[in-house]
Formats: sequence, C-alpha cells, structure tokens
Amino acid sequence: MNRNVRTLVVGAGFAGSVVARELADTGHQVRVIDKRPHIAGNAYDELDAHGVLVHRYGPHIFHTNGDRIFEYLSRFTEWLPYEHRVLGVVEGKHYPFPINQDTLNQLYGLQLDDSGAEAFFERVREPREPVLTSEDVVLNSVGRDLYEKFFLNYTRKQWGLDPSELKAGVAARIPVRTNTDDRYFTDTFQAMPKHGYTRMFEAMLDHPNISVELGVDFDDIRDTLEVAHVVYTGPIDAYFRYCFGHLPYRSLRFEHEHLPDVKQYQKVGTVNYPNDHAYTRITEFKHLTGQEHAGTSIVREYPQAEGDPYYPIPRAENEALFKRYEELAKNEPGVTFVGRLAQYRYYNMDQVVGAALAAAKRLIG
Ligand code: FAD
Ligand code: UDP
Repeated sequence: MNRNVRTLVVGAGFAGSVVARELADTGHQVRVIDKRPHIAGNAYDELDAHGVLVHRYGPHIFHTNGDRIFEYLSRFTEWLPYEHRVLGVVEGKHYPFPINQDTLNQLYGLQLDDSGAEAFFERVREPREPVLTSEDVVLNSVGRDLYEKFFLNYTRKQWGLDPSELKAGVAARIPVRTNTDDRYFTDTFQAMPKHGYTRMFEAMLDHPNISVELGVDFDDIRDTLEVAHVVYTGPIDAYFRYCFGHLPYRSLRFEHEHLPDVKQYQKVGTVNYPNDHAYTRITEFKHLTGQEHAGTSIVREYPQAEGDPYYPIPRAENEALFKRYEELAKNEPGVTFVGRLAQYRYYNMDQVVGAALAAAKRLIG
C-alpha cells in the first residue's frame, strides 16, 4: 500500500478502530467515518442523565484467552477485573446460569457433588449424533427438562426461531458444568476498561495520522471517493446494495431505566428471563463497572426483527447467502471486509480485535 494515499475506514467500532490504529502506527494516513454520532460501535458507553456509566447498545463484558489481544488493548486502557455472573429465572426462582451443580441441587432439591452431577447429566441427556443444531447441543448435554426450562423459550424470544433452526454454535456458547463455578465466562482475562469503552476507543483513535468524521454514511460518499483502499466494517449486504437480497440480522430494542435511591437492583450483573416477559434479560451496570452511585441504572433487551443489525443469525441458509456476498467481496478491488457485520459472524469483541489485527497485517504486508 502507498502510505501517502489515504485509507478510508468505514465504521469506528472494534474492527474499524483497530485497523485504523495499526495502519496509522505504520505511517499510513487514515480517514475513519461512522454514520452514528459517536465512536466505539456497539461497545459505546456513556454517562446517562443521572451520571451512571451505561452501555447504550446492551451489556458488553470483555473476556478473552488471547494474551496478544489483551496486551494490544492494554495500550489504550487500564482495566478493572470483573467476572460476570448470571442468574436464570424459572418459575419465579433465581438459579445459577450456566447450569451447574448448584442449579441442579436447587432446582430438584438434590445434594449432588461433582460426580453426582455428572451422573445426573448422563442419566437425563438425550444423545444426539450428529450434533448439528442448537436443540441437539442442549438435549445432548442436559436433556429435555432443563432444555425447556432454560433454553427453549429464551432462544425463541432472542432469535424468533426454534433452537432446531439455529446452528449448534449458538447454544454451544453456553457451557454446562458439573462443579459449582457460577461465572458466565472462564477465560484467562476477564476485565472491563477502567474508564469505559468509549475512553479506550478515544485513545486508540488519538493519532496524528487518523482523522475521524462522525455522522457520515458511506452510502453518501462512496461514489465520489478518491482513496487508495477502503476497510469496510458495516453489513456486507448493504455494501453490495442487497444485490442477492437482505441478509437477516437480529435486532434489539434497549429499554434503559434509572432507579433513583436504589443502591442495588439485582444480586448479579445480569438476570435472564427465559420464560417470562418480552425481554430476554436485565443488566444492572454498576455490577459491571464497579461504579459507586446512590441510584442504579438497568437495561432490558427486547429482541426484534427490524432495527439496527446487532446479530448475524447463524443458520445454514443465511450462511449460504453470506457466501455469495463473500465471493463478491473477494473480487472487490481495494476493499477489505472485516468485523461482525462484514464477515457475518457471531463474533465477541476479542474475536473482532483478532480479525482486525490479522486484516491490518495483511494490508500492511
Ligand atoms: P460494530 O461495533 O457494529 O461497528 C460497526 C460500525 O460501522 C458501527 O458503528 C456502524 O454505525 C458503522 N457503520 C455501518 N454501516 C455504515 C455506513 N454505511 N457508513 C458509516 N458507518 C457505518 N461481545 C463481547 O465480547 N462481550 C459481550 O458481553 C458482548 N455483548 C454484546 C451485547 C449485545 C447486545 C450485542 C449486540 C453485542 C455484544 N457483543 C459482545 C459483541 C460486540 O458488540 C461485537 O463483537 C463488536 O462490537 C463488533 O465490532 P465491529 O466493529 O465488528 O462492529
Ligand atoms: N441462551 C438460552 N438461555 C439463556 C441464555 C442463553 O437459551 O438463559 C441461548 C440463546 O439461544 C442465546 C445463546 O444461548 O442466544 C447465547 O447466549 P449469550 O448469553 O452468549 O448471548 P449474547 O450475550 O451474545 O446475546
């Protein structure tokens, strides 16, 4: 790549910001645009009207096993150790989730130890071969009763689909444990950016070779561009003007609420409601951020079909459609596609950072 000619990065989320910084650090001039009025993509956080740090687009908890990725981001932030815990509400009672030994004991009035829990799962599981769908994954590991109590309705609500219509990888995100570990994640690094995600992104984009323009839609400038290269992190079907039709993405409506004079609303960061309500879960931000405040702020997530694209929907037919767009992408000169929307992958933040570092390396050559 010629260093003197600018690269345009579309999207100031993890994918775009990491690539921009890598290019800038190697002497390239980079122009970053985002159609939203802020940086940080879906990881954007801000103080709400009451001074509580909240995540506008739903709870973002950083976790990774990648030393390199953690080290990379540590250039731009200090961290606050945080291990996320979740409770699932079934018939009005709160149980540890992911399902572990305590979940079984509390739910069924048992006193199982590790090997007892293992034997329990062995007894109730419905072996499936091969394991192709999310229904297969759960029935194969914990059997029908736990499937119906914790997974079936949550999944229908979240995706508008039955678990049998989703690839195995969706439910496989959730482990099943025979011990009493009640953490949502077991990654080596689990921490939140000490001053929030937005501040971390500000540091990442703070470079003399980077200019950032917000409220600029790629669609409005694409026909007048004079740049050496484009790094595109928006939805891939939008880039190709939906020529093969729309790729399905699942959306959410976030209902934020501040509760004055409530020091703590719930015991843990997130409470899941598989069977009740139109929302899937409630998250209380102070657990995640460690912030002290006289009141508290929470968010409820209501899944919906229309709206901003938040989740690619992992099913065979969608992936087949994505492959058609990917073929076009491979032959699109001077454009790199990277990120959760551009690669149509159910990526966590750390995976996007990894993909962006790899893309930048290829670009820099
Ligand atoms: P995005 O963050 O979506 O950034 C893409 C950017 O491109 C956006 O800002 C968008 O405005 C911009 N853009 C798109 N089209 C255009 C255009 N035409 N012109 C200009 N700009 C454009 N991951 C975790 O690791 N842990 C979590 O706890 C976690 N929780 C999540 C909770 C929710 C509710 C959601 C939706 C996601 C969560 N994630 C979590 C995933 C995480 O948000 C993503 O992995 C990550 O933010 C993706 O980064 P990205 O840069 O690929 O995409
Ligand atoms: N899931 C479920 N019940 C729960 C939590 C998760 O059935 O209480 C299933 C559901 O299909 C969900 C998937 O597991 O979409 C992945 O959950 P995760 O918490 O990783 O979702 P995310 O945080 O990405 O929305």
